[in-house]
Amino acid sequence: SRLVVAVDGTSGSGKSSTCRGVADRLGLRYLDTGAQFRAMTWWLLHEGIDVHDPAAVAARCEEPDIASGTDPLEPTIHVDGTDVGLAIRSDEVNAAVSPVSAVPEVRRRLLALQRATIGDGGIVVEGRDIGSVVWPQAELKVYLTADPAARAQRRAAETGSIDISGTQDSLLARDQIDSGRATAPLTMADGAVHLDTTPYTLEEVVARLVALAEA
Ligand code: C5P
Repeated sequence: SRLVVAVDGTSGSGKSSTCRGVADRLGLRYLDTGAQFRAMTWWLLHEGIDVHDPAAVAARCEEPDIASGTDPLEPTIHVDGTDVGLAIRSDEVNAAVSPVSAVPEVRRRLLALQRATIGDGGIVVEGRDIGSVVWPQAELKVYLTADPAARAQRRAAETGSIDISGTQDSLLARDQIDSGRATAPLTMADGAVHLDTTPYTLEEVVARLVALAEA
């Protein structure tokens, strides 16, 4: 199948689990673009670059080799050959990824990578600007949201944190930067289906998207 499913939405809306489930059910590949922004951020921090200095970030962002594995059952992310799947979920990366993602040169670099990976389709792609910028021609575009408390609870469960209110603060801070930036802000793309996942189980959301994709 050459189908492209573009899934955008806020942090903690259940995007990743949903997208992996949909890709698995439909026999498609899976691309987590958030992981690419996180990998870039991880590398900049590792190099000691000031992530709050856009010029410094722009000057170095062509350097790291970022590679995404697209198996929905076992997605991977490598930077210069190092598996950073766990490292990119740290508090340090969480705190730095939104300012890094607001740098136009970073977005341009990763956009090229994302389009090359999508290639001639057969993939579920998740992010913030997939339906609006990366692949507006996607056959199905979905915009996922959820109540902040539900999102914080899910994210804390994923990361094993017991600090629900701290997790919620960190999610909301990222949302605010992601929605307010000048380049490719988080918005609902033209033609996207909006789904608030708060009242639904993961299985219900996956089933809904599979039905939309098959319609
Ligand atoms: O999806 P995830 O929460 O892992 O994304 C981490 C961060 O990467 C987001 O908060 C956002 O700043 C950035 N991002 C982005 N554009 C995308 C995907 C992620 O700016 N397409």
